[in-house]
Amino acid sequence: DRIISAELKGTDRQVDRAIRPQSLAEYIGQPVVKEQMDIFIQAARQRGEPLDHSLIFGPPGLGKTTLANIIANEMGAEIKTTSGPVLERAGDLAALLTNLNEGDVLFIDEIHRLSPAIEEVLYPAMEDYQLDIMIGEGPAARSIKIELPPFTLVGATTRAGLLTSPLRDRFGIVQRLEFYDVESLTTIVARSASKMGMELDQSGSFEVARRSRGTPRIANRLLRRVRDVAQVGGDTLVGQKVAQRALDMLSVDSQGFDHLDRRMLLTMIEKFDGRPVGLDSVAAAVGEDKDTIEDVIEPFLIQQGFVIRTPRGRQVTKRAYEHFNYQLPSDFK
Ligand code: ADP
Repeated sequence: DRIISAELKGTDRQVDRAIRPQSLAEYIGQPVVKEQMDIFIQAARQRGEPLDHSLIFGPPGLGKTTLANIIANEMGAEIKTTSGPVLERAGDLAALLTNLNEGDVLFIDEIHRLSPAIEEVLYPAMEDYQLDIMIGEGPAARSIKIELPPFTLVGATTRAGLLTSPLRDRFGIVQRLEFYDVESLTTIVARSASKMGMELDQSGSFEVARRSRGTPRIANRLLRRVRDVAQVGGDTLVGQKVAQRALDMLSVDSQGFDHLDRRMLLTMIEKFDGRPVGLDSVAAAVGEDKDTIEDVIEPFLIQQGFVIRTPRGRQVTKRAYEHFNYQLPSDFK
């Protein structure tokens, strides 16, 4: 259970309601996505039509759910929310679709996890606002068509590559969210702090931001722990020092690495002398299973340029040595 995990956890949800941006203007960063969505939304509104079906993809915690809600707000529409794994039977989806009003947004999170049977129901609904459902079984079975009100499907997925192509092709708008730069994250942290009634100065916001792995969800979670430390320590105005103290206590370092990240990097430096090493060997030496290394620990280290994959295995980079103030081995390649 890592505090720097980007996945949604229990307490994130409660706090979220108070700090989640409600309009495009409040949505920080992602300039390309914002500019495009602003135009598409204005155009649809001028025509008095629902927005085209929109697919949002990007790693967890970057603001897909937030953007879906903003789309509904900006369109002046209601949003109904569900997710791929929750929709088990075609009837579940049919019930949602037939309850939509004209212009509503249906948000399906983790849309790559829809079953094929449910995808089949979705195709005509997206294309022609029509529901084709089978009722009854055997010789008495027949299919009926139900007209649906025009609506907007917003789908979210962590990886667009996981979507079947017939589904992907039915989205008129596709947006990809990027990791946030420290500047945008600093603004997000400052905004969240003020919504939480916390006095945090610029240096404090920056300190939280740079340890948040490019991810607003992590930034907001770290901010809540910084608030705890400040409150108990009697610090009313929180600056860099208090933020640092709190984050050091949580063992989140200046790069946003936690003990697992550091263990992997230090193992590769100390036990393997910075040479390329196979996944099995790293996993055994770190004491984690291969999947955890590959799915949970390594992606951020690779994305940040601390580890690279070579044909001969994983290798730490110069940056990793610098991070720990270690001397590069003389034969380092
Ligand atoms: P996802 O659906 O991609 O996993 P969420 O939409 O739930 O991510 O966002 C996670 C958290 O980050 C929310 O608490 C939200 O308030 C915050 N957040 C996400 N994007 C932004 C943004 N662009 N500006 C401000 N806060 C954001």
